[in-house]
Amino acid sequence: MTMFSDLHERLWNETPGEKPLASDEALSLARAAAPGDRTLARLLFAEGFGTGGALDAILLDRSERTKSALFSNTVQAVVPIYVSSICNEHCLYCNYRADNHGDAVQRVRLTDDQLRREAEFLIDEKGFRCLELVYATDPLVRPAAMCRHVELLRNLLEQRGGSVVGLSAEALDENDYRDLVSAGLSFSVLWQETYDRWRYQQLHPGRGKKPRFEYRLDAFERMLSAGVRDVGIGILTGLSPWRRDWAMLISHEMYLREHCGQAATILGIPRLKSAPGAQVHTTPFTPSDAEFQVTVALHNLLFPEVRPFVSTRESFELCTQLARGGGCLFTFNCTTIPGGYTMGNPGCQFPSGSYDAPVYSKKLTQLGLSTDWNWAPYEQALYAAHIENRA
Ligand code: SF4
Repeated sequence: MTMFSDLHERLWNETPGEKPLASDEALSLARAAAPGDRTLARLLFAEGFGTGGALDAILLDRSERTKSALFSNTVQAVVPIYVSSICNEHCLYCNYRADNHGDAVQRVRLTDDQLRREAEFLIDEKGFRCLELVYATDPLVRPAAMCRHVELLRNLLEQRGGSVVGLSAEALDENDYRDLVSAGLSFSVLWQETYDRWRYQQLHPGRGKKPRFEYRLDAFERMLSAGVRDVGIGILTGLSPWRRDWAMLISHEMYLREHCGQAATILGIPRLKSAPGAQVHTTPFTPSDAEFQVTVALHNLLFPEVRPFVSTRESFELCTQLARGGGCLFTFNCTTIPGGYTMGNPGCQFPSGSYDAPVYSKKLTQLGLSTDWNWAPYEQALYAAHIENRA
């Protein structure tokens, strides 16, 4: 059976294969193409794209109007709960890489009681109903433990009217995803980091699972085969020349639609930030704010129903710009160290802001964005649409 990894090399070599669009042609395409028109992807390489000029203004405006029509200026609140910072991988841009023995890294693995306390605090004190479990690649926290954690959080949420449990972890086997769905998992996100094979291998040394480029590339198909209906795909923008990486990401999303009968429904948009204890802090490949913002807007026009995962890696101001029109996942409170909410653990995987939900959701309201805390009904609609598509 063909998997995306079988096509990667050909697609990589074809991207970008065309002559960049000239400014006039780009402006016409940006004005006239309907949302969802795949030819919009050509704008990534157009003259004037990301320069803050007329082309960007059209795309930002159309993105906002398209999102607003679909999602009524509503964002979906989500909060990460880190479970372990113990990792046997070696990603050179990460504070949690196994070889980092410096003072800036704290290795913590939560017990189930500690995890429960973190979740209860976020649910009862901060009002969250969508919890995202986040894991480093901890040799002692394997899929069976992740299933137990999903069940634990699911039960806590059910006692309070229910909602959504998601996962951000290493790439897993299809059976593992199947077990997680049975345990109550609603969504699963995984970032490919980069589609540039050479860069990928340079940045992910070692003998673990992460250096297996193809295994990670095909994880999204395994999720979909296993019955995960809300799948997140993305790259860590800045690891490699970003236009080519985004073009490949778009190709991958199109492939999933055509070959799996279902799309990724969440878009990861992390941008590289300098982390303490990392070996790679910056690259020449990181887009400016203007480039980054218009790239997300272009993606919104290409795939209007896909929700960008807006994270506190960015300033609150930029988060609100990225969220224009709604139709995104939105992070408020955030720590990237296990026990960061209730145990006072210092440290982080990478620097991030934390925008206290009761305060900052009001700021969003002032900007015309409302917050959906319990988006279980949205998840149910996704599942219903999937079943209808199959009928
Ligand atoms: S990015 Fe993830 S897998 Fe890589 S070193 Fe950091 S925690 Fe481990």
